[in-house]
Amino acid sequence: MFYSDISEKINLIGRGELSLIENVKSFIDRIERKKHLNAFNFVFKEEALKRASEIEKKIQSGKHGKLAGAVIAIKDVLAYKGHPLTCSSKILSNFISIYTATAVQKILDEDGIIIGKTNCDEFAMGSSNENSYFGKVLNPVDETRVPGGSSGGSAVAVAADLCDISLGTDTGGSIRQPAAFCGIFGLKPTYGRVSRYGLTAFASSFDTIGPFSKNVYNLAILLQTIAGKDEKDSTSVNELIPDYTAILSTNKKFRIGLPKEYFTEGLDSEIKTSIFSEIQKLKEDGYQIEEVNLPMTEYTIAAYYILTTAEASSNLARFDGARYGYRAENYSDLEEMYVNSRTEGFGTEVKRRIMLGTYVLSSGYYDAYYRKAQKIRRLIKEDFDKVFQNVDLLITPTTPTTAFKIGEKSDNPLEMYLSDIYTTSANLAGIPGINIPIAKSKDGLPIGMQVLAKQFDEEKLISFASRFE
Ligand code: GLN
Repeated sequence: MFYSDISEKINLIGRGELSLIENVKSFIDRIERKKHLNAFNFVFKEEALKRASEIEKKIQSGKHGKLAGAVIAIKDVLAYKGHPLTCSSKILSNFISIYTATAVQKILDEDGIIIGKTNCDEFAMGSSNENSYFGKVLNPVDETRVPGGSSGGSAVAVAADLCDISLGTDTGGSIRQPAAFCGIFGLKPTYGRVSRYGLTAFASSFDTIGPFSKNVYNLAILLQTIAGKDEKDSTSVNELIPDYTAILSTNKKFRIGLPKEYFTEGLDSEIKTSIFSEIQKLKEDGYQIEEVNLPMTEYTIAAYYILTTAEASSNLARFDGARYGYRAENYSDLEEMYVNSRTEGFGTEVKRRIMLGTYVLSSGYYDAYYRKAQKIRRLIKEDFDKVFQNVDLLITPTTPTTAFKIGEKSDNPLEMYLSDIYTTSANLAGIPGINIPIAKSKDGLPIGMQVLAKQFDEEKLISFASRFE
């Protein structure tokens, strides 16, 4: 059922040794059997089977796209025309998308099969996938634990073999952190590398779309497909896209930096030990590794939560019950219709962020919080610019702990926010990052290593990651 990479699957189908229809059926069966994990909000059974039979013919005639037959799950914050787009929120629970996100369209154009839309934290706000109108998602490695968030469903869909590859989004760690908790690869591209058109905005200057996979080839081919300048997103960038699959296993000896601020107290000792044992191996293999400083690190969480909530409070203003989505049943005038629709339609975490964001943007507090956080963002970016003059890659932990227990942090937002301590900096700076699964803890839980590179250097991340397969 599972193939080391998509090209192998295409070859088997082409030679008639594998039926794509049977393959899609077995994924659908498995999704059914693993229903309790709650990874999917919607599964597109008939449509996937229909596409399987069309694409199988294309493969056999030798005229097919580069994702032909790949079974792909997409996070339910991405628009796909004619399909539900809920962002795992009650306020959009009845909404059907009227257009298709560019990243999703590119998958369809390359003959990928969209198998369904995955569960996530409401509007991508969270680190545990417990904030969903459709209920929590379970970690397949240990079902008493969270899969991470906000793209928990997309990570679980890959980790539990419910699809070949998936798309998530990363505003502050939502690809890398669940990838770490579930023991798979997850890549957050450079801001602007992938069009955000059709991605429901959480924090527009932070949001990115990227792939999850169990192997690096599939990660590379999916990124290759969705990357590129798009006229429909003015923040997407016209930058050369290398052939990411050509650079696998080149085993180039990149210069590596270890930011010392990322290995201080609060980091689980098993994670630290696992990363240092990888670093030891790299040294023995001739990699040049040096300690570096990112002095602004201590301000990242504060800056991230001020700026992203500010952007969210503005972005989420459009959900008011007037034009689309959920509308409260009882109200006596327009004002009350807005208030009741939003009160009933949004969950607790989303409301917390809207209020926080509205507060930091309010007159009198704007300079003290928002403007100051903008300045810090700039300084964080400059820290990275400086270290990337001397090194190609930075190695850090992805998360301070392994997957935590369901419910463990749900009453303590600050503690939940701190689980993003190593990932938010990449979004503040706009740089790419990847989670590489490197080890298991003594409890059998996945341990992830984060690797960061400078803007548009995804190829280095991919090439380096292929060493760890
Ligand atoms: N966990 C972070 C948050 O809650 C990151 C979310 C994300 O990347 N979408 O904001």
